[in-house]
Amino acid sequence: MSRTLDPQLRRALTERIRYYNELGIYDFYRREPNAELPREPETSVVEDPALLLRTIREDLGDCTRCPLHQQGRKQIVFGVGNPHAELMFIGEAPGADEDQQGEPFVGRAGQLLNNMIKAMGIQREDVYIANIIKCRPPGNRTPEREECETCSPFLMRQIAAIKPKVIVALGAVAAKTLLAINAPMSELRGRWFDFRGTKLAVTYHPAFLLRDPRQKKETWKDLQMVMKELGLAVPAKAEP
Ligand code: SF4
Repeated sequence: MSRTLDPQLRRALTERIRYYNELGIYDFYRREPNAELPREPETSVVEDPALLLRTIREDLGDCTRCPLHQQGRKQIVFGVGNPHAELMFIGEAPGADEDQQGEPFVGRAGQLLNNMIKAMGIQREDVYIANIIKCRPPGNRTPEREECETCSPFLMRQIAAIKPKVIVALGAVAAKTLLAINAPMSELRGRWFDFRGTKLAVTYHPAFLLRDPRQKKETWKDLQMVMKELGLAVPAKAEP
């Protein structure tokens, strides 16, 4: 008997099949459900963002898909935070501290990001934080286009699993990779972009703000725009 698949389940299955195709597996066999066993509602499993994130992490494995796997990385920095987050921050790449600890934004730039999040009246645990690429480029150089293109499909799957209301791209590399446009920060900030149906704002990377703290005021304006969209009250405190 033919059944119509829930659109989200269909999308999840399509992604899964695409992943196996990438591995060179094309033949699939359907196991008929055992009529004597009670059926779990399929969508409840597939829609669980925490489970989806775990599956994506398993699929990533001990990744060797781009040259960064053999350029001194200690570990893969997958992403951290609330799988049900309404707000997602996406940076560029792990640095030395992140490579050491296996978590994005834990060094000085991470401290500043934490302050930015607190200034918005929420906690780091409320949001999800990730990077375009998951391995530290040697000497903290800017990631190559090929590295971004190879790694970012996993980030796309993370975004699709979490389904945030708002994405904030931190810095030009994140913005340009996500939006596939080449524009200066002055043209990217202070406005909304549509990222596959999700609102996306661009602001300065915290590492840049450490070098040029005068731009914190501008960053605060960007964050206020995000807060308004999320229905968060703007606190009395002026900026992070
Ligand atoms: S940067 Fe991404 S694609 Fe490259 S090795 Fe690391 S996890 Fe794999």
